[in-house]
Amino acid sequence: MRIRFLGGAGEVGRSAFVVEDKKNILLDCGVKVESATEYPLEIGRVDACVLSHAHLDHSGFLPSIYRDASPPTFATQPTMELVELLIEDALKIAKRKHDKPAYSRADFREMMSKYVPCEYGYENEFDDYVITMRDAGHICGSAVSSIENIRSGRILGYTGDFKLEEQTLQKGADPVKCDILIMESTYGGGEHTGRDKLVSSFIEDIKDVIDNGGTALVPVFAVGRSQEILAILEEHGLAERTYLDGMARAATEIALAHKRFLKNGKLLAEGVNKVSVVDMQHVRRNAVKGGKIILTTSGMLTGGPVLNYITQLSRNSKVFLTGFQVEGTNGHRLLEGKPLLIDGKKFTVRNEVGFYDFSAHAGRKDLHDYAKLCSPEEIVLVHGSVENMAAAAESLRLEGFRVHTPKVGDTIDFEF
Ligand SMILES: [Zn+2]
Ligand SMILES: [Zn+2]
Repeated sequence: MRIRFLGGAGEVGRSAFVVEDKKNILLDCGVKVESATEYPLEIGRVDACVLSHAHLDHSGFLPSIYRDASPPTFATQPTMELVELLIEDALKIAKRKHDKPAYSRADFREMMSKYVPCEYGYENEFDDYVITMRDAGHICGSAVSSIENIRSGRILGYTGDFKLEEQTLQKGADPVKCDILIMESTYGGGEHTGRDKLVSSFIEDIKDVIDNGGTALVPVFAVGRSQEILAILEEHGLAERTYLDGMARAATEIALAHKRFLKNGKLLAEGVNKVSVVDMQHVRRNAVKGGKIILTTSGMLTGGPVLNYITQLSRNSKVFLTGFQVEGTNGHRLLEGKPLLIDGKKFTVRNEVGFYDFSAHAGRKDLHDYAKLCSPEEIVLVHGSVENMAAAAESLRLEGFRVHTPKVGDTIDFEF
């Protein structure tokens, strides 16, 4: 068996790996969205796709496969519904910018009609393989997949994005016993702040701002982060003081329709019942009057209602960044104290800005613990910068694992 690394190796973004055996199985097919969109390398024949989760760095280029083929895509139901939401939005943005999308609406519809809904822990047969998905603990519906070759009994595991430590809304990832493990390594070089400490400082800082009559503006990624933060706010009695705006609303509804994929769906449902949903301009004006929390997209301030809010904040308001900010985005500029670019014009934010590392990825300890739980012979690191992949490889080798750190364009042969 041979694995070709078409993207997402030595980089974060455009994850796409083809497992070439009797059949060709594509693991994820994403885009890298920075200044310009980057796609995976030439994909070739695909007989089946396995989609780990909805984020566009894993799913954004998948519809293009359906231009001249019609393979099944194995994914959980929330993943496909969230993909639909994100891709519809990407198509709308492309149209507004007069960009030619990499696939048509018909390709996208074909993809949606060919998907095989997977439940965690159930075996799905495909030719000589059994594909099983388990909870990856990253976002609603995210999956760690195993592909077993029925003839040899060998198993390939693929983590997608995962987190072993529990979040408020997601359980920790379930391990997958396998011979070869393809594992993300976004934080291979470091560790996250302890979760309890992070949550308590976030809540304390939010209370400080709103009790002083300021606005707590919390930019969030629509899928995953907005639901997690809303659940945390509800847990601390703050949902009633929260406005929810942008694509976060629709993503939250999808997550709520699939509570069995959440650790604590009830908490999220209770939070949603208490928040003020922003559906009209006058509600938006009320939201910035002070004393309130605004949870809105986009998480890196690249678009969405957050850009409208940030220009209207009172002096005692604060911006709470809740995730990694890619270089070149407004969120990254904000962290560096540089002016934002809104509709081509510069805007300087005079408010305090805080960074809270609510990452849904495995930290260094998680990577080690998870590798031990899966006990593979070989580990292939992906979804990390060259430096982070090298750091993770070095420490995993000390534990006795054989570790590969491919680059985009590489191929590696395995016994399967
Ligand atoms: Zn992700
Ligand atoms: Zn990712």
